[in-house]
Parts: sequence; structure tokens; C-alpha cells
Amino acid sequence: MGAHSFQRLCENLDLPCLHHKSYQSQADKLYSNTQKVRDVFFSKAAEIVRKEHAKRDPSVAEPQTLMDIAVSYDGSWLTRGHTSLIGVGCVIDVLTGLVLDAHVMSSHCQACENKKTLQKEDADKFAVWERQHLGSGECERNFFGTAGMMEVHVSKIMWARSVMKHNMRYTIVVSDGDSKSFNAVSEMRPYGPHCIIEKEDCINHVCKRLGTALRNLIVDASKRKITLGGRGEGRLTQNAIRRLSIYFTRAVRSNTTSSEMRDAIMASVYYMFSKASAPFMLQRTLFMVFL
Ligand SMILES: [Zn+2]
Repeated sequence: MGAHSFQRLCENLDLPCLHHKSYQSQADKLYSNTQKVRDVFFSKAAEIVRKEHAKRDPSVAEPQTLMDIAVSYDGSWLTRGHTSLIGVGCVIDVLTGLVLDAHVMSSHCQACENKKTLQKEDADKFAVWERQHLGSGECERNFFGTAGMMEVHVSKIMWARSVMKHNMRYTIVVSDGDSKSFNAVSEMRPYGPHCIIEKEDCINHVCKRLGTALRNLIVDASKRKITLGGRGEGRLTQNAIRRLSIYFTRAVRSNTTSSEMRDAIMASVYYMFSKASAPFMLQRTLFMVFL
């Protein structure tokens, strides 16, 4: 809640409000205490993660042993539409599902905003104030770029401090399909030139992408005067796409080798569209897609 929203809340509750400077100072205290709690929380999470990994590999039980783990990483923003001024990135251990690290990026500082008029009226006075403001570490702005790049920037920060923070290397990243952050940390080589960071795809996101690809296929085919969608048995209906996506996910989850997965996926495609009522063009197109 910002100073303005807090003021409005006080007005509605008929309570005396804080001056914006007092509000800022209270908000700073609250934020600093939240950071301390957050650090304790992450350390406890790292302890549990190490304990769970040690059950599989006892050699990593000691905290001073460097441990390689698989994590999932994603970013989120305060508002939608790639214009948010505040974003957060978060690293989650795949084995336990515990959050190991998070970092907030902000391209907004209320104190700097309040001095916008001074900046226009007296540049020298503003420069003095700005130097003091930045030097004191009070400026809340820690990012100068587009909202989309926040996720990438946070990933670099968290990969760079993983060894110092938890004595862990995030060597496998389970990706949501967006590989910008993975490419950034991969190029950065935070664990030295010989330690390669690998990417694995999240099956739920692959399944989502399959659904999107099949819907796009219907649109592309209709432009070429080929009808794949529509209603009726044997057509690529929305229900058929949903079922194909479910069968695809199941085939990947319940098999261990890629050839077994492929056979199971193809079996689901044959099952869905091998009936006599399925249009020949649809059968041919789908088999081409899955093959
Ligand atoms: Zn500032």
C-alpha cells in the first residue's frame, strides 16, 4: 500500500493520517524487518532442502559441501501488461518445492518522484539532494530498464549469490518455456567456465504449448482452405485438443525413455483420429505434426 492509498484508508476510517515522510520512515522500518524475516526463512528452507537431498546422496549432508540442485525459476509483476514498475523473481527447489531465494526489482522511488519539481526548477540543488539520497542507500529504485528485463536481471543476481547464500549451485533449470533468463545465466557462467547450466522443460508448459500449436494449426489450415476444426467426430475440436494435451502429458509422465514416450504419444493420436470418420487431411496433418 502506497502513501496515497494509506491516506485514503485513514480518511475513510476517520483516523488521523501520517505525514508522507513519517509514512516513508515507517515503511522503511517495516521493509527492513521483513527482509530479516525473509533471510531467516530462506536459510531454514535451504537446511530442509539439503536434508532432503542428503537422503538421496549422503555426501551432500554437510552444509560446507557444495551441492548441485535442480530449480524452477519464474518472475512475476505487480501489474499486467509489461509496464509494471515492480517485479519479483523467485527460485524454487524442484525436489521439495521450497522457495530458496527471491529478489524484488523496482524502477520506482517515491522520494525521487517527490523531487521531480525540484529537478525542473533547480537542477544544482536537485543534484546535491540526489547524491545524498543515493549515498544513504535510501533510494528504492534498483532497476533501470523495461519490465520484461526485470526477470532476466533478477535471475543473474540470484545465480551469482547462490553459493555464497546456501553453498548450492542451481545447475538445472526447469523452464516455463521462456528461455531469456536461462540464456542470461547460462552465458554468465556464475559457477566457472566448466560448469554448464542445463535447461529442462516443465511438462505442464509443454502441454500448454501443444494446445496453442494445435489451435494455430486450425487457423493456418483454414487460410489454405483446409478445414481441420469444426464440429463432429474425427474433427480437431476444442475437446479433441484438450484430450490430446492430456494424453500427451500422461504419455510423458508415465514413461521413462524417449522412445516409450513417443510410442505412447503416437498411440493416443492413432486412437483419436484413426476412425473412418476422421477426414484424411486431418489424419495426415496430425501425423506429420506428431512425427
Ligand atoms: Zn530514490
